[in-house]
Amino acid sequence: MSTKRDYYEILGVSKSASQDEIKKAYRKVAMQFHPDRNPNNKEAEEKFKEAAEAYEVLSDADKRAQYDRFGHAGMNGGRSGGFGGGGMNMEDIFSNFGDIFGNDDIFGSFFGGGGRGGGGGGRRGRGTRGSNLRVKIRLTYEEIAKGANKKIKVKKYVPCQHCGGLGAKDKNAFQTCNTCGGSGQVRKVTQTFLGQMQTVTTCPTCHGEGQIITSKCGHCKGEGRMYGEEMVSIDIPAGVQEGMQLSMSGKGNAGERGGAPGDLLILIEEEPHPELQRDGLNVAYDLHISFPDAVYGTQVEVPTIDGKAKIKIPAGTQSGKIFRLKGKGFPSVNSYEKGDQLIHVNVWTPQHVSAEEKSMLDKLQTSDNFKPNPEKSEKGFFEKVRDIFS
Ligand SMILES: [Zn+2]
Ligand SMILES: [Zn+2]
Repeated sequence: MSTKRDYYEILGVSKSASQDEIKKAYRKVAMQFHPDRNPNNKEAEEKFKEAAEAYEVLSDADKRAQYDRFGHAGMNGGRSGGFGGGGMNMEDIFSNFGDIFGNDDIFGSFFGGGGRGGGGGGRRGRGTRGSNLRVKIRLTYEEIAKGANKKIKVKKYVPCQHCGGLGAKDKNAFQTCNTCGGSGQVRKVTQTFLGQMQTVTTCPTCHGEGQIITSKCGHCKGEGRMYGEEMVSIDIPAGVQEGMQLSMSGKGNAGERGGAPGDLLILIEEEPHPELQRDGLNVAYDLHISFPDAVYGTQVEVPTIDGKAKIKIPAGTQSGKIFRLKGKGFPSVNSYEKGDQLIHVNVWTPQHVSAEEKSMLDKLQTSDNFKPNPEKSEKGFFEKVRDIFS
């Protein structure tokens, strides 16, 4: 897993490549390393699989966005390591070709006759893929800081239990498609200005499945799936942020008639904290202290994303001073980096004063100690801001 190559590099396209460019690039690589053209060549087969995996991710806007954000890590919630990965077999790859090489493609004339992958018949596979599902998950700052496991009930299509998801009444209720003879494809020879060209299209009768159901399952009406729900356990890595999207492959809607399930896409939302404010990896806290505390110094307890922390406010602390609790911010989702907690000191100015307080203040007013006299070393507001963001 650690030696995985960059998906863009595998296909030889730039990070900003359009879907069309990605598709074209994949075609080129797939044809170059296609097993039919490289019999008994292990290296070519690996390259072929690698390209298929890259294409699977980059051709899907959601997966691509996630890959751009997290790289190979961080996919599938960051735990189970990568899409398809080693789990993608030749059967999966060829089953995608129907979409990639399109309905009216000349792909058939390159590998005409031999079928795909040598001897598998040319079927696209069973059923149609289920759609992706989106759910939102709201997390507190504490959960984001530590990572969380959430169990949620997802309402979605699940495989029909009565027919095992196949949509047929029993296993004898299938019949080979007459239109395509079970191959799932129909070939046709057309005349073009380049000469004769063989095109392959998905069989319109069986939609590429190669067989048709003669007697449908009564429970799901032949669809192979029913509306239901599933408890899904989602591992959320520490450090996620509002707007991030995680994906769990295969946890979306069940496919029709045994087709592969879609993915479950999890959109992260942050629950606002009553006292803390997130700023990237850092977390900010506004501390209000009384004027006497600012003069004498004091010890205060401040909330953090990991319980309470005691901090010392030195004597003579000015309003606007920022204290930094190193490492008390959020962890980064894709590195070992950790943010800080920044504590902004606000010295409270009374809004009303009694007659007695007024006479005391009038007395203090004349004292030299109460006249503002910032030291040169005391950093101004703009310098502080520069420090924090540098
Ligand atoms: Zn057919
Ligand atoms: Zn059924």
